[in-house]
Amino acid sequence: MLRLFNTLTRSKEVFRPISQEIVCMYTCGITAYYTAHIGNMRTYINEDILKRVLLHRGYRVNHVQNITDVGHLASDAGEGDDKLRHEAEKEKKSMKEIADMYTAIFTDDLNRLNVIMPNTMPKATDHIPEMLDLIAKLDRKGYLYKAENGIYFDTSKFAGYGELTGMSFERLVSELREGARVEKVAGKRNPTDFAVWRFASGSEKECIWDSPFGRGFPGWHIECSAMSMKYLGKHFDIHCGGIDHIQIHHTNEIAQSEAATGEKFVNYWVHNNFLVVDDKKMSKSLRSIYSVDHVMKMGYSAIALRFFLLSGHYRQTLNFTFEAMSNAEKTMRGIYQFLERLASAPRAEKSADSRAFMAKIRVSVRMFFKSLDDDLNMPAALAAMHGVIKDTNIRIAEGKLSRTEAACVIDGMMEMDEVLGLEFAKQIKKGEPKSASEIEALINDRDAARRAKDFAKADRIRTMLKQKFHVVVEDTESGSRWHEEQSQ
Ligand code: AMP
Ligand code: ZN
Repeated sequence: MLRLFNTLTRSKEVFRPISQEIVCMYTCGITAYYTAHIGNMRTYINEDILKRVLLHRGYRVNHVQNITDVGHLASDAGEGDDKLRHEAEKEKKSMKEIADMYTAIFTDDLNRLNVIMPNTMPKATDHIPEMLDLIAKLDRKGYLYKAENGIYFDTSKFAGYGELTGMSFERLVSELREGARVEKVAGKRNPTDFAVWRFASGSEKECIWDSPFGRGFPGWHIECSAMSMKYLGKHFDIHCGGIDHIQIHHTNEIAQSEAATGEKFVNYWVHNNFLVVDDKKMSKSLRSIYSVDHVMKMGYSAIALRFFLLSGHYRQTLNFTFEAMSNAEKTMRGIYQFLERLASAPRAEKSADSRAFMAKIRVSVRMFFKSLDDDLNMPAALAAMHGVIKDTNIRIAEGKLSRTEAACVIDGMMEMDEVLGLEFAKQIKKGEPKSASEIEALINDRDAARRAKDFAKADRIRTMLKQKFHVVVEDTESGSRWHEEQSQ
C-alpha cells in the first residue's frame, strides 16, 4: 500500500486513486524566464520518482505540467512586474522568444536528468479562453470584484480559505499585514485577495488580451486551475510543487477551483522541500544558483546529479555542496562498476546456500519498494539497494555467484531502476558477453590451438567460454561444436 504525506490533512494517507486505471497528476511547471536551477530540478526529479512509483505499481499516469509564459508577477502574492515581460524588455526580445528559449533549455535538462516527460505541457498563453471561462464562472457566483488594477477574488467569501496551510483565514490575513508584504491596491478588500485578471497598464507591447473583464492578462494562479482542470478534470488525484507554493499559489488554486466547481479540487497535495547550497538558500548575491549545465561543466555527470538530487527524503531539505556532489559521483561510479562486474563475473556451479542467498536479495528488493511505499522514503530505499550490492559483491569475491543467482540480482537491480531511473541496463549490457561473433572467434582460436597441439591453450579457451559466455564446447570428428550451458 502506498502512503503519501498529504499537506492538506498533514498526515500520511493511504493513496487511493479516483480511478483504478489511471492516476491524474499535475505538477506546477517553470515560469520560463530563466534557466531552471538544480533546486527546481530536485523538485521535478522527486515528482518523477513519485510518478515512477505509481507506474511500477501498475497504474497508468496522466501527468500534466504547465509552462508559465505570462502572468507570474515578481512576488507570488501578485505584486511587481510580470517576470517574463520584464525579462523580454531587458533582453529586447519578445516574451515568446524568452519563453521558448528557456522552455527548450528546461526540457533538455529534464531529458539529461532522465525525467519522464509529462503527457502534456500546456502553455498559459495557449489557454486564455479556458481561464476567461473560469473567471466568468467565478464572477457569476459572486466571488469577484473590481479593484484598481484588476479583477480580484474575495478570499473572505470562500469558506475554508487557507486550509492547505493549516492556518485560519484570520491568521493568514494578520500574517500578511504584519509582514507588510501587501502592496496597497486601491479597492482591494483583504490582504489575501488575489487578481485573477490584471488590467493592461497601456505600456505593454504584447501578451495582452481583450476580455469581458477589460483588456489585460491572467493571474498566475488562475492559469494552473484552468489548465489542470482542462486536462485532468474538476477533481483529480495528485497535485505537486515546492513547499514555497503552499501558502499562496496552491491555496489560491484551491479557492478559485473549488469556488467555481463546488467540488473538491485535489485529493493529495504533495510538496517538496528545498535544495539549499552550503546550508543557505540559493541566491544570486552568494553566486550559489547552479544550473544543470554549471554542474556538468564542473565535470560531473548528469546521472550523478540525478542520483544526488533524488537521494534525500523529499520532505527534508537537501544540502548541495561540491563535496557532496563528488561523493555522489563516486557512489554512482561504484554502482556502475558493480553492474558491469555482475554481468561479467564468472558463473559458479550452484551451491548449497544458493536459495538462502537469493532469498536475502529478494528481501532487500522488497525492502526497497516497501520504503518507497512509506511516503517515498528514498534514503531507506537506497540503503536496501546498497545491501543488495554488498551481499552480491561478497558472493562474487567468494567465487560463488551462480548463473541463476546473477539473474536474480540483475532482475532486482533492474526493477529498482524502474523507479530510480539511473540507466542500470546500459551498464549491465556493457558487462555482458558481447556477441556470437566473439564466441565464434574464440572457438576458431581454440581450433587453431588444437591443430598446433597447444592443448593447454585450447583448455584455457574452453574454460573461458564456459565461465564468461556459458558456452560448452564439444570436440567431434567433424570439428568442434558449441551450445549454451543448460540453466540450473
Ligand atoms: P518556479 O519556476 O519558481 O515556479 O519554480 C519551479 C518549481 O521549483 C516549483 O515547484 C518550486 O516550488 C520549485 N523550487 C523553487 N526553488 C526550489 C529549491 N531551491 N529547491 C527545490 N525546489 C524549488
Ligand atoms: Zn502552478
